[in-house]
Amino acid sequence: MRALVFQDVKQLGCESIADAAIVDPGDAVVQVRLAAVCGSDLHIYRGHEAGIDAGTAMGHEFVGEVVAVGKDVERIRVGDQVLAPFTTSCGDCFYCRGGLTARCERGQLFGWVEQGEGLHGGQAEAIRVPMADSTLERLPDGVPVETALLAGDVLSTGCFGAERAGAGPGATIAVIGCGPVGLMAVFSAVRLGAARVFAIDTVPERLEQARELGAEPVDFAAASPPEVLRQATHGRGADGVVEAVGTPQATRGAVDLVRPGGTIAAVGVHNEPQFALSPGEAYDKNLTYVAGRCSARHYMDRVIPWLRDGVDLGGIFSHRLSLEEGVHAYRIFDEKLEGCTKVLLKP
Ligand code: NAD
Ligand code: ZN
Ligand code: ZN
Repeated sequence: MRALVFQDVKQLGCESIADAAIVDPGDAVVQVRLAAVCGSDLHIYRGHEAGIDAGTAMGHEFVGEVVAVGKDVERIRVGDQVLAPFTTSCGDCFYCRGGLTARCERGQLFGWVEQGEGLHGGQAEAIRVPMADSTLERLPDGVPVETALLAGDVLSTGCFGAERAGAGPGATIAVIGCGPVGLMAVFSAVRLGAARVFAIDTVPERLEQARELGAEPVDFAAASPPEVLRQATHGRGADGVVEAVGTPQATRGAVDLVRPGGTIAAVGVHNEPQFALSPGEAYDKNLTYVAGRCSARHYMDRVIPWLRDGVDLGGIFSHRLSLEEGVHAYRIFDEKLEGCTKVLLKP
């Protein structure tokens, strides 16, 4: 089968690899209908996350049709149209029972094979999905398929971030970074009832999308976000900040925006060894800082009902390309060329 594989830093290739197949009795094989490229794939592509084997199929955002199941699979059937969260989960361990499916004792991340162990990704013609019964969900009726795909990662992650930042009636929320995750955090914060949502970035088309989703855009190259937030909040700052970038600069931005007693919810993936805020700053502002991988399997169930009333978030995709065009897709998403906000790949 064809797959977009990691070869080296900033070097991918569309290659033929071994067909996805049932290995364990709980597995399913999904023929991929649509796959998306995520900001998290860029950490691998840019070499900020190291250890992945050359030859690994990239990606963890996909929807498709189940074409085979192992003998222990009961709930999911051949022919089902399914969506997947970006990690597998058993649904039954200590963490899964508590809703922390991202930390399932048996969970694995799609698109990460290291020293021969792990899972290939969904930017391929097909993908093997372990623990299929507890990992996969059937595509919801009446939801556009491109929108449903977003529930497997960036929409769930946006909701996770917005909720943990305290988005709710009366709250003023700032979202740092208007990539797909930040945009879905804006959508979620509005949905959760936040009074005002400010969205910070410099890329014009991304700021415009944030505005369309209900945020007040702030181009930090042209205006000072802390100043804008202070003016909006009687000098206090944001009640909660969703940091959806994953750099020390973004953490610094969050510290400067949040009010005393507020919360920073970091959903950006960080690879640096130390916090960009000091214990003294955290103390002096009575800060709450929360971080981590979204439990997308858990949050999917929370966000899918939001989509049933005709919401179409497909506008977040600026490009729809073939798998064979995947190398180009990464380049334009990485370098923000051609107005690229997010890419769908159709195998
Ligand atoms: P992206 O790269 O498309 O978006 C990042 C955006 O941040 C860009 O628009 C960029 O212009 C902007 N930006 C960069 N520096 C900034 C700064 N200092 N202040 C404000 N904006 C800044 O990526 P994405 O797909 O939106 O993902 C965002 C982050 O979320 C990534 O780190 C990704 O790995 C992470 N992520 C985390 C989870 C999770 O489970 N926690 C899930 C999905 C993605
Ligand atoms: Zn992702
Ligand atoms: Zn589990």
